[in-house]
Amino acid sequence: MKPNEILLNTTDNEISLIDLIGDEHISTSVETPLRADAFALSDAEKVERIEKHFREIMLTLGLDLTDDSLCGTPRRVAKMYVKEIFSGLNPANKPSIALFDNKYKYNEMLVEKDITFYSNCEHHFVPIMGKAHVAYISNGSVIGLSKINRIVHYFAKRPQVQERLTVQIAEELKKVLGTHDVAVVIDAVHLCVSSRGVEDINSRTVTSHYSGAFGDENRKKEFFTYLGLNA
Ligand SMILES: [Zn+2]
Repeated sequence: MKPNEILLNTTDNEISLIDLIGDEHISTSVETPLRADAFALSDAEKVERIEKHFREIMLTLGLDLTDDSLCGTPRRVAKMYVKEIFSGLNPANKPSIALFDNKYKYNEMLVEKDITFYSNCEHHFVPIMGKAHVAYISNGSVIGLSKINRIVHYFAKRPQVQERLTVQIAEELKKVLGTHDVAVVIDAVHLCVSSRGVEDINSRTVTSHYSGAFGDENRKKEFFTYLGLNA
């Protein structure tokens, strides 16, 4: 048995499954896989624990943590994980959404495009960076435009796969707006593809979710037109 196999505490078969999922970017569920005790620890306790483990990772890599430049890194990373880039794991951080009456009787699609987001690939813990384009047709209620950005950011701030991020945003909008007429397109760059592995700096990944009225080809075309895409 090789040393990394002992560290992972898995069988050979499990290791090849881990490699396969990592390389193929398979998503296993629409829900982010969370443990039942995911929020048993407070944020402060999580920071303490991650700091300790990240220090171990750095030491294992052979880094000298007495160096001025490195000594604060474990705590900095731990705080960044819990308070920033993975803060969307905690439902307590979900944006509260106020609904307004659709007073203008605007019955066409509303498109909010080019919502910049930063996420992290759950297979490699390196960044996914991209744009989300979202559309909905009001069935009587509307939400503030910035709330759409906040919903995108909330789900992006998790270890993610792009397919799940796309569906989670769409499902949340459907729930909040009380309509199935929702479309989400995400166009993103994965650093696990561009900066390592196959090192393809040009490829982008596009995912989409259309439901309700957006299943109609003409609606879809209209949406693509607003996005500047040819349908
Ligand atoms: Zn990855």
